[in-house]
Amino acid sequence: VLALAGTLALTACGQDSEGGGKATPKGGKGSTIGIAMPTKSSERWIADGNNMAQQFRALGYKTDLQYGEDSVDQQVAQVENMITKGVDALVIAAIDGRALGDVLKQAADQHIKVISYDRLILGSPNVDYYASFDNEKVGVLQATYIVDKLGLKSGGKQGPFNIELFAGSPDDNNTRYFFQGALKTLQPYIDKKQLVVRSGQTRLNQVTTLRWDGATAQKRMDDLLTKAYSTERVDAVLSPYDGISIGILSALRSGGYGTSAKPYPLVTGQDAEVASVKSIIAGDQAQTVYKDTRALAKQAVQMADAVLTGKTPQVNDTKTYDNEKKVVPAFLLNPVSVDKSNYRATLVDSGYIKASDLK
Ligand code: BGC
Repeated sequence: VLALAGTLALTACGQDSEGGGKATPKGGKGSTIGIAMPTKSSERWIADGNNMAQQFRALGYKTDLQYGEDSVDQQVAQVENMITKGVDALVIAAIDGRALGDVLKQAADQHIKVISYDRLILGSPNVDYYASFDNEKVGVLQATYIVDKLGLKSGGKQGPFNIELFAGSPDDNNTRYFFQGALKTLQPYIDKKQLVVRSGQTRLNQVTTLRWDGATAQKRMDDLLTKAYSTERVDAVLSPYDGISIGILSALRSGGYGTSAKPYPLVTGQDAEVASVKSIIAGDQAQTVYKDTRALAKQAVQMADAVLTGKTPQVNDTKTYDNEKKVVPAFLLNPVSVDKSNYRATLVDSGYIKASDLK
C-alpha cells in the first residue's frame, strides 16, 4: 500500500510538474520512455529501436530500449521491469499480441501511456495509440506484383500458374491483415483457376510461420516441393517477409530452381532488408515491400511526446484497428512495392540503404 501510495504521489506530482523543473519530472521532457522491441534477428527492429531512442533523446527524453528476442516471457518481464522502474510511457512492438494484457493493466494503474508500435496489442483496453503502416495494403502490393508479373492482368498468358502461399506468425495481428490483403487480390484468379495452389493450403491456419522464422518456412517449402511439385513447377510464392523469402529461396535452390533452365518462381517479401535487396538485384527474390521505419519511429515519438505534454497525437485512422476492447486511434503510413526497377530510387536515393551496403 505504501509503495503504491508513493507511486501515486509521484505520478500526481509529476503531472503538475510539467515545465516546473522538479528533480523527477514526470509527464514531459526529461521523462523516460520504455521501448520494447521484439527481436534483433531482423534489421528493421534494430533500426526501429535505434531511430526511436535517438529521436526521443533529441527531444530531451531518456530511453530504456529492450529486445525480447522473440521470447514472449522475456518481453513481458522487460515491460514489467520498465513499469517498476517508473517509465512515463511505453512504446511496444509485441511478440505475441495477446500476451500483454496483465502487464498493461499494471501500466494503466500507474498512469503510464501505451503506444502500440507496428503490431496492434490485442485484448487490452490499455492501449492508447497505434502507429503502423496500412497493413492490408502490404498484402495487396505483394499479391498485385505476382498477378501483374504473371501477366494475368495485362492480357498476357492467362495461366494456369502454380502458386504457394506463406503467412507470418499467427500471434502477430499484422499477419491476418497482410494475408487478407493478399488473398482478396489473388482469390478471383484462384476462383477462375488461373492460379492453382497445388498443395491445397489456402487457409491462414495452414500457411502461418511461427515467429516469422525463415528456417520454418524453408522446411515447409521443402515439403511442398516434395509433395506437390515432383512433376509441376512453382510459378509464384507469396511470402510475407524477407526473412521468410530467404528460407523459401533456399528450399527452391535445393529443389533445383535458380538456373536458366529452371528460374526461380516470383517470390515476394517485406521490409527491404539488405540481404533481400541484394537478392532482388541478383534476380533471385522478385519483390519486397518497403516500409520506412524512420517515418514510423517519428510517428510513435510524436504520439508519445504529445500524450506526455498534454497535446493530442496526430492520427489518420480511427476505425480500422479494433483490438477487441476498443478501436485504437492510429496513424498509418504507406507501404511501397520495390523490385529491381525502383530499388535505387526508393531505397538508396532516400538514404534508407547505403549504396555501398548493396555491393
Ligand atoms: C511487421 C513486418 C515484419 C514482421 C516480421 C511484422 O509485424 O509489420 O514489417 O516483416 O513483423 O518481423
